[in-house]
Amino acid sequence: MIKESIQDLPGGLALQTPSGAHIDSTLHAMPLQTHYYLPLVNYQRDVLQPNVSVGDKVMGGELIASGVIAPTSGTITQLTHHTWPHPSLTKVKTLTLAADGQDDFLTLPNITLCDDSAEEKLQRIERCSVHGLGGAGFNTAKKIQRVMEHNAPTLIVNAVECEPGINCDDALIQNHSVAVIEACDALCKWLNVSNALLAIEDDKTTAIEKLTQALLAQQSTMQLAPLSAIYPSGAESTLVQRLTGIQLTQGQPAAKFGVLCINVATVLAIHQAWKGLFSAQRILSVTTQDLKHSVNLQVRFGTPIDSTVQFAASVNPFIAKSLNENRASVSVGGPLSGFTQTNDSTPVMATSNALLVGAMPIKKPQSACIRCTDCATVCPVNLLPQELYSAVSAQDTDTAQRYALDNCILCGCCDLVCPANIPLTSWFQHGKDELKHQRAAEQNAVMAKARSEKHNTREQQRALDKAKADAQRRKVAAQRSQSAIDIKAALERVKNKRPSS
Ligand code: SF4
Ligand code: SF4
Repeated sequence: MIKESIQDLPGGLALQTPSGAHIDSTLHAMPLQTHYYLPLVNYQRDVLQPNVSVGDKVMGGELIASGVIAPTSGTITQLTHHTWPHPSLTKVKTLTLAADGQDDFLTLPNITLCDDSAEEKLQRIERCSVHGLGGAGFNTAKKIQRVMEHNAPTLIVNAVECEPGINCDDALIQNHSVAVIEACDALCKWLNVSNALLAIEDDKTTAIEKLTQALLAQQSTMQLAPLSAIYPSGAESTLVQRLTGIQLTQGQPAAKFGVLCINVATVLAIHQAWKGLFSAQRILSVTTQDLKHSVNLQVRFGTPIDSTVQFAASVNPFIAKSLNENRASVSVGGPLSGFTQTNDSTPVMATSNALLVGAMPIKKPQSACIRCTDCATVCPVNLLPQELYSAVSAQDTDTAQRYALDNCILCGCCDLVCPANIPLTSWFQHGKDELKHQRAAEQNAVMAKARSEKHNTREQQRALDKAKADAQRRKVAAQRSQSAIDIKAALERVKNKRPSS
């Protein structure tokens, strides 16, 4: 039941939870809010077109844009630009839903594992808007579809939350271990999985105990893979490498190699979708900046962050105290992966796994790189962050690509150890955005060239066809005129042969 051989993580950081930290694993359900903010953007930052207009009444579960469902029933009251929980702190088109307090949801029939087709199961996952709840927010149906091209794939259920302060998956397992294993087994059966692993940090003792009991009770074939709590063990590329030996480079998806790596809460959301439940909420940890106190809330997507934090403060006095500190702010994500949110009504989305509340540590002044290579020592994907930094800050994208900027998982380990306090990860995020734009521009240029070549070929063909048609017309005209001459000559001959009267 326990996987024995697990590769070590190259680099990474052992981030300790402070001694005496108290994590409340009870799931506190947030009451219904008056307003929900629903950004029209997906995990790839594609802008989505709304299916509804201002004034429309909607039911919970109604598809208001591709992949976006209403988290409750009510009326669409606004379409405005609003902040969304993203490090870019940009604004995107957002629908405001005023809840009617009835919380009426559309109903969907059950999907059965044996009777319904693979297509119907995928469609249901898509319809219920199941997205990756581990932090990346991938479209789950698409991710599964890719792995279905492989026979007997490997399943890695990811419950590794290697940053202190994030414990939503731990809380989920502690409260719903049997449902989690049922969901994992159902996924294994459907996809004919040959090797199923559930990865979790070895210090999550209560969750491991509950999982072990559930595995035994259900005679599941899943193996537990306990990992040492080193950050960033939960990142897909490092997890896949450690558990399967497959090295993912240049942003390759694990599915390409027949590995479905999927967050534990997402697996449960898939199973619930087959039972007709929409994926309209998630568990989210709210933690004090000193990481000593944490609560776990069930929050609907679209709930404003300030309401979420206020509710957390109402169930935990230490969070309330942190909220009232001088310079108190709220960050979305863990202490390494998080970013400070500037707008209180920024909504919770599928990617929001934690909120940190309290006074932000004062930023230390930045100095020049002293080439100590500490950043390279901790990099979990064996990059040379100091070289990458030189390339990205000089806007030299070719060199940045040579130093494998694509492989950077933006984990922030290099930032944490840099004695010069260089915000390396921000630079790498910027470099990746630049590369994305450059590649999009190059692709557009290639497509424009192909379009122009097609146009030229079509024009040349048209000119050739026209010349051919003209020649044909001239030939027909010449033949006609020759025929007229021949007829005239023949008539002349007939006339000349007639005896004169
Ligand atoms: S850790 Fe900082 S100072 Fe040291 S090599 Fe890396 S970037 Fe330079
Ligand atoms: S942010 Fe990128 S370069 Fe820095 S340690 Fe993480 S993976 Fe390596």
